[in-house]
Amino acid sequence: MRPETLAIHAGLSRRDGGMSPSLQLSTTFAHGPAYELLHGHAYSRHSGPNVCDLETRLCALEGGAAGAVCFASGVAATAGVLGVLPQGARVVFPAEFYLDNRRLALLWAQAGRLQPVFLDLFGEAQLPTDTALVWLETPSNPRLQLSDIEAISRKAHAIGARVAVDSTFATPLLQSPLLLGADYVVHALTKYIGGHSDAMGGVVLAGDPAALEPVRTLRALSGGVLSPFNAWLCERGAATLPVRMERHCANALYLANWLSTHPAVDVVHYPFLPSHPRHALAQRQMRAGGGVVSFELRGGREAALAVAGAVRLFCNATSFGGVESLIEHRASVEGAGATSPQGLLRLAVGLEHVQDLKEDLAQALAQVR
Ligand SMILES: *Cc1c(COP(=O)(O)O)cnc(C)c1O
Repeated sequence: MRPETLAIHAGLSRRDGGMSPSLQLSTTFAHGPAYELLHGHAYSRHSGPNVCDLETRLCALEGGAAGAVCFASGVAATAGVLGVLPQGARVVFPAEFYLDNRRLALLWAQAGRLQPVFLDLFGEAQLPTDTALVWLETPSNPRLQLSDIEAISRKAHAIGARVAVDSTFATPLLQSPLLLGADYVVHALTKYIGGHSDAMGGVVLAGDPAALEPVRTLRALSGGVLSPFNAWLCERGAATLPVRMERHCANALYLANWLSTHPAVDVVHYPFLPSHPRHALAQRQMRAGGGVVSFELRGGREAALAVAGAVRLFCNATSFGGVESLIEHRASVEGAGATSPQGLLRLAVGLEHVQDLKEDLAQALAQVR
């Protein structure tokens, strides 16, 4: 079956005949006298019906996946992959990736837990020979830079390293890292899969079920499991992911094109714009450009803050993947030591009518011309 159908039917449990999936909040399940599992689950930190249903759905949607492990947040999923590496393992990270994942890498580096190297993985990269894991984020936050998953996976495997891809920006629908050779895929469910800015979650998927076993064990023992209710919300969100992504992508591409012609705008970052430095890779590796667009203003920080202060429909808030459009001055969020350009604004393009979004940006940009 195709993604539009799987998104609705994979993992759907109508345990009592209702059209809406049943929500089972119980932490504990009846078992036999010698701990025989009578209902498939014993204790919800280890597994539960709603989390398992969601894992089935996400596994069906992610090309090449043989299993999925859901966590309480995207960063918990990241910690689930990094946490099973041997003590002091060398991990190669991109020069630009999700801020709190970077902070986690630095925190664990301080404790000797891992040895991070930050490399430009958006072009031709030379990997250190003692690398245990290469962490990719493509497209990257916030400049939508792209890594060649297939080429980097080949290089990594040649030196015995594994590859994990944070594919949150692309969702399971727009790219399939496991089919391109990656060992793990991570998504923050909090973004497009949940889709309504009301549930935190994360998932780790892999093509080899054996690679997921230590991740599943770590989740049970460190306790970062997704709650049943958030699993239920994410299952509901995943059902509409294909139709939502179509509109997110169409709106974002339209605004990216329009912003590229605006005199106040210096550069627009969007994978499916011909001006993107890796446009050919985008077309090969992705099915559409996604719903996030970032752009840099000719007037730098001052202009960016003026635009962010003048929007009326876009809301100043972090995150993306909800139905509503958001805008964010990333350098302010990052604070001291910010790596994002001061003149950059990131748009989380929502599902509103694109003309309303354009008109709002037009009136805000008119303030800085
Ligand atoms: C949001 C995000 C995360 C972290 O997800 P949380 O649910 O906030 O923990 C990780 N990677 C990317 C690319 C994200 O956008």
